[in-house]
Parts: sequence; C-alpha cells; structure tokens
Amino acid sequence: MFDALSDRLGNTFDRLRGRGALREQDVRDVMREVRIALLEADVALPVARDFIEKVTEKAVGEAVLKSVTPGQQVVKIVNDELVAMLGGGDGEDGHVPLTLEAKPPVVIMMVGLQGSGKTTSTAKLAKLIREKHGKKAMMASLDVNRPAAQEQLAVLGEQAQVDTLPIIEGQQPVDIARRALESAKLRNVDVVLLDTAGRLHVDEALMAEMKAVASVATPTEVLLVVDSLTGQDAVNVAQSFSDEVPLTGVILTRMDGDARGGAALSMRAVTGKPIKFAGVGEKLDALEAFHPRRVAERILG
Ligand code: GDP
Repeated sequence: MFDALSDRLGNTFDRLRGRGALREQDVRDVMREVRIALLEADVALPVARDFIEKVTEKAVGEAVLKSVTPGQQVVKIVNDELVAMLGGGDGEDGHVPLTLEAKPPVVIMMVGLQGSGKTTSTAKLAKLIREKHGKKAMMASLDVNRPAAQEQLAVLGEQAQVDTLPIIEGQQPVDIARRALESAKLRNVDVVLLDTAGRLHVDEALMAEMKAVASVATPTEVLLVVDSLTGQDAVNVAQSFSDEVPLTGVILTRMDGDARGGAALSMRAVTGKPIKFAGVGEKLDALEAFHPRRVAERILG
C-alpha cells in the first residue's frame, strides 16, 4: 500500500533532510515534486493542490528556513498535514472509533455498491464487534433482489459465529429491518448490522430504499463500503451516498491490493467522512481499524 508514493517521497525528502540551509525556492521545488507524487498516487486534484498550499505556506516561514534542521522541519509539516488530510480523530493514532455505546440494540447500517465488499465487510465487522468489543452482534441481509447475497451472509455468519436473521421470502427491506430490531430486542442483542442491497450504480431507487430503511432503523452508524481499487470513483460514490444518507464513516476494501492509495488519501478531504476501517483481504479477520497517523508514517517511511 502506498508503495510508489512512499518511494518517491522518500527520495525527495532524503535529499531535503541532508541539506543544511534551505531557501524558499528549494521548498517550492520540493513541493512541486510532492504534488506530482500525490497526483500519480491518484489523489484528487483539489486535495493535492490544497495540501501543497498548506504545507508551502507553513514551510516557507522564517522560523523553518532559519532553523538548524530546516529539511526535517519541512518533513514534519508534511507529516502533520498528511495526518490532517487523512482525517485524524480522537482515537488511538487518529482512529475515528465506532459509536457503540448508545442504548442497545445499536444499529449499524452498511451501504455500498454491489461488488464493493459490503457483505464480507458486514461479517468482518460483526466478528470484530463480538471478539474485540465483547458485544453480542446479529446480522440481517436486506438484499431482497439477490437471494445469493442473503445466503452468503448466512454462511459468513456461521464462520464469524454471529447469528443472522432467518430469511422470510418475499419480505421487503423495511420490514426486514423492523423484524431485525424486534428480534434483537427479544434476544438481548447489543449491535445489529444491516447489510443493505447493493446496485451496480448509484440510482434513485437505491437511495430511496436506503432512506426508508434508515428512517425505521434509526442507525447509530451508517458505514459506506467502497473499493479502494476504484480510486477516484470510490470518492465520487462516497460523495453521492453522502448527499443522500447520513454517512458516519467509510470502510475502504481491497487495501491489500491498492498500491496507489488515492482513495484513502482523498476520501476525508473530499467527503468529510472518516475512513473507520480498511479491508485487507478476503478472510474474516482481514479488517483493520484505520489509523491516519500510522498511515502517514508508512508513507513517509
Ligand atoms: P458485495 O457485493 O459488496 O456484498 O461484495 P462481497 O462482500 O460479496 O465481496 C466481493 C468479493 O470481494 C469477494 O470475493 C470478497 O471475498 C472480496 N473482498 C471483500 N473485501 C475484500 C478485501 O478487503 N480484500 C480483498 N482482497 N478481497 C475482498
């Protein structure tokens, strides 16, 4: 992940660190290289531009240029701005944690396009909530258009050792959501995860369904699952969902195969929504809390 970006920035900053004195023009030259590296990593253009502006403004100040180690100071400014761009929260290393402390059953609504990894991520998250948070979880599939998706969730539920709501054929998403909540209350479930229907594209019918489900389920978390490999499209999809449903965060999947990292780097800045988790493989354990500070460290080496 971020390999190319990390290599390029590493080379650029090694040269910078080695220099005793720096002039404003040196900083501007370096920032031009950083800008190109960000764009090659598929970072959204306005995000890259904004980043360079902020870093340059801070780095060309007298205090930095006249300091004993100006190169290192500039790298530190880059690091801090990277963390800000990735969206530092209050949790460990800038992680924005799940809100699970509301009155149970807490509802997590999972939304996203078909193929983004939504069903897998639902099961991964349910497992994590059971194992790491020690809470009783339950999952329900609302994807009535694709019986295979409903069965897939049930199979994953067995692997994750998390119950899934039994399927009643012909029942509509809003009614399934209601039934899931009733069942959760009866069985003292702490957290209910609703795996909503995916579509190939963002369309009005999908958004109407998401809104209807959200209004009956009153979710504490609405997590959008997007595929990091789709780069800027992932960010655009997030923007479309964000305009329609009150997203509380993003799960970025297939980070294990994403060498560029553009979606991860642009998501927060473009959509204002934090990446809460990263999918890093097909197995149910392959879900990591997203830590902006650690990611920035990885990029800067
Ligand atoms: P959905 O249509 O959005 O529900 O997508 P699925 O959950 O069925 O996932 C589609 C495919 O992507 C499956 O083969 C998953 O195993 C795979 N997948 C999901 N998340 C990840 C991930 O983080 N990394 C990798 N490598 N594969 C993933």
